[in-house]
Amino acid sequence: MDEEEYTRARRRMVERQIEARGISDPRILKAMEEIPRHLFVPETYRSAAYDDGPLPIGHGQTISQPYIVALMTDMLDIGPDDRVLEIGAGSGYQAAILGRLAREVVTVERLPDIAALARRNLGTVGVSNVMVVEGNGTLGYADRAPYQGIIVTAAAPDVPRPLIDQLAEGGRLVAPVGSKGLQVLEKVVKKDGRIIRTSHGGVMFVPLIGDHGWEE
Ligand code: SAH
Repeated sequence: MDEEEYTRARRRMVERQIEARGISDPRILKAMEEIPRHLFVPETYRSAAYDDGPLPIGHGQTISQPYIVALMTDMLDIGPDDRVLEIGAGSGYQAAILGRLAREVVTVERLPDIAALARRNLGTVGVSNVMVVEGNGTLGYADRAPYQGIIVTAAAPDVPRPLIDQLAEGGRLVAPVGSKGLQVLEKVVKKDGRIIRTSHGGVMFVPLIGDHGWEE
């Protein structure tokens, strides 16, 4: 496929997988139409980069299905001045989308090779407001807290407490919570110091590993 074909495939992806399923925020649609997802997947999978599913990125990890990226981004209600924390950098694709909507993004990744991959991919596409941090994201990243948005892109047995603590007043957190095999998207909102939790549709993510996640 050449660049023109990738661009066409990307436009189709946004129309058929994202817009058709009810995501209408023009900023999200624009970001997904512009960020070249094929540069975030291994070369062998490049021609499948705009298909309707997750893809392997090495070390047993995956880049999420485009629709799930759009849906979780939508649930975060990001404003242009927001600082956003992501747990599970993976390919860096979700962080690149968030970078288009927020002022600043911090993404934490526990596997050094994958953190390097995310950093490389973000550099390739020229996203400069995303910081990739290597470490255990179940502890969050206190140095830059509080965050107006927090997204966990690995499956957790429950929402890690440190992340709720690092959420700003009025902030939103989205995380897949459940068993290792199946989770629901949970949204946490901090309002007047109180925590409001709601459950949304079913999803399947690779496990979040660490203190407030699953054992390795
Ligand atoms: N958001 C990514 C996909 C994430 S896949 C993308 O857009 O491509 C889940 C990632 O979470 C994996 O890379 C995995 O190594 C990472 N992960 C698992 N447990 C973690 C933890 N405790 N802290 C940080 N990253 C973690």
